[in-house]
Amino acid sequence: MDCLFCKIIEGAIPSKKVFENERIVAFHDIAPAAPVHILIIPKKHIATMNDVTEEDDALMAELFTVARQIAKEQGIADTGYRLVNNCNDEGGQVVYHLHIHLLGGHKMKALAD
Ligand code: 5GP
Ligand code: ZN
Repeated sequence: MDCLFCKIIEGAIPSKKVFENERIVAFHDIAPAAPVHILIIPKKHIATMNDVTEEDDALMAELFTVARQIAKEQGIADTGYRLVNNCNDEGGQVVYHLHIHLLGGHKMKALAD
């Protein structure tokens, strides 16, 4: 399968990982949009939020658990952060492997566009 994030999971494309377990990987975004910008992804290839099923309930919950943990480790839990999922073209999705952006480290602008 020609998926950039599956290649990152396999290690075929290098990344700066900050977390990994059997189900989830998190790594620094290559083009950070904030002082802290980390992508949290399931190892299971799920293309978009629309492709999540009830079978993935525990996995989805764990993505948020990992996001909270990384926010703490990055020192932005108390100052604040933003979690974003872009779904499909008009949502701004570029990589079609489900991911949550963890953004923080400065004051976020109001959601725009
Ligand atoms: P999307 O727009 O699909 O929600 O977000 C995709 C994100 O992946 C973007 O923020 C982009 O900077 C990031 N990205 C694209 N290619 C790479 C890569 O090769 N390595 C890493 N670490 N991030 C990438
Ligand atoms: Zn994938």
